[in-house]
Amino acid sequence: MCEPDTRPATDTYVYDPSLLSWAQCMGDACVVCHAKWPRPRRRLGELPDGSRVFGCEECAGIIDVEPRVPAGERLFAAH
Ligand SMILES: [Zn+2]
Repeated sequence: MCEPDTRPATDTYVYDPSLLSWAQCMGDACVVCHAKWPRPRRRLGELPDGSRVFGCEECAGIIDVEPRVPAGERLFAAH
């Protein structure tokens, strides 16, 4: 639910693995919409252990559009 707004200086977004499915954690499914096909190819962030997570082109576009919008104003919550 509430995601901490303590993102590091980099643009990498760290996802909470407890909120993701196994497939999402493995990079086999989009972390936003769960789509497994077409295979997500855009890196959208990573897990606390450094594993990369991916999203489809469409969702990556949504996230990239307004990267600086405060969490409370985001229209597209990941969960
Ligand atoms: Zn997606």
